[in-house]
Amino acid sequence: MENSETSKKSLRLVGKESKKEPTIIKLKNVEIGGSQIAAIAGPCAVESEKQMEKVASVLKKTGVKIIRGGAYKPRTEPYSFQGLGEKGLKILRETAEKHDLAAITEVVDIRNAELIAKNADILQIGSRNMQNFELLKEMGKINKPVLLKRGSSATVNELLLAAEYILSHGNPEVILCERGIRTFEKETRNTLSLSTIPLVKELSHLPIIADPSHGTGKKSLVEPMTKAAIAAGADGFMIEVHPAPNRALSDSKQQLNLNEFKNLMKNVVTIAEALNRTT
Ligand code: PEP
Ligand code: MN
Repeated sequence: MENSETSKKSLRLVGKESKKEPTIIKLKNVEIGGSQIAAIAGPCAVESEKQMEKVASVLKKTGVKIIRGGAYKPRTEPYSFQGLGEKGLKILRETAEKHDLAAITEVVDIRNAELIAKNADILQIGSRNMQNFELLKEMGKINKPVLLKRGSSATVNELLLAAEYILSHGNPEVILCERGIRTFEKETRNTLSLSTIPLVKELSHLPIIADPSHGTGKKSLVEPMTKAAIAAGADGFMIEVHPAPNRALSDSKQQLNLNEFKNLMKNVVTIAEALNRTT
């Protein structure tokens, strides 16, 4: 077990002591970490051009600037859909370019990190790889922002130390993501730990967003938890959206359909405005 006081001293670059002002990550049409609340949305996995096209046109209508979609999927079961790989990456890039959106996708293997960096604007390190230290070091060498998701059994200190790996290897552009942790609760897939958001703000200058989709695993809980995350000070949120969630090849229970997502965006904007933030 790490001694958290000792390991806090190891937050040489991630800790507030090293940098007082918040880190703002600038993408072509959106900033993460400033007064804006960044919305990221898209399907769990890229499944087809048609699917991505339908999602992208709704994102444009709702003002979302970043599209997500996994091409390399880390699945619990080896027989589940593993993602379209390079083909999925190409669909994601082409859809994003066509609609002038930034694209985010997950890196699961050091061997195709560079290929993904050429095709995406933000690289995602998923919860299962939060402590894949070789992958983290590789992310340090890449010239693109990294979204680092909290491991489902990781402490906040371990999350920050994982970010320290990326910063100490040369990449200052890290966005943290609270995506829920494992608890004894069985009604939800994970327990979204909302106090992590203001806590990270006390400890670090890095931006933090929430993922209420994986954080709850239940579509009915996604909107209330998005609102709560914004109220808690999140710099953004990432939501899974699919044109036909029932037919999704992964995470079908937590993905919103296009109409549900449009409504969520409308309601979330009201909360953001009440807090003097823009979306
Ligand atoms: C994802 O965002 O696609 C994902 C797999 O999430 P997590 O790593 O948080 O489980
Ligand atoms: Mn998913």
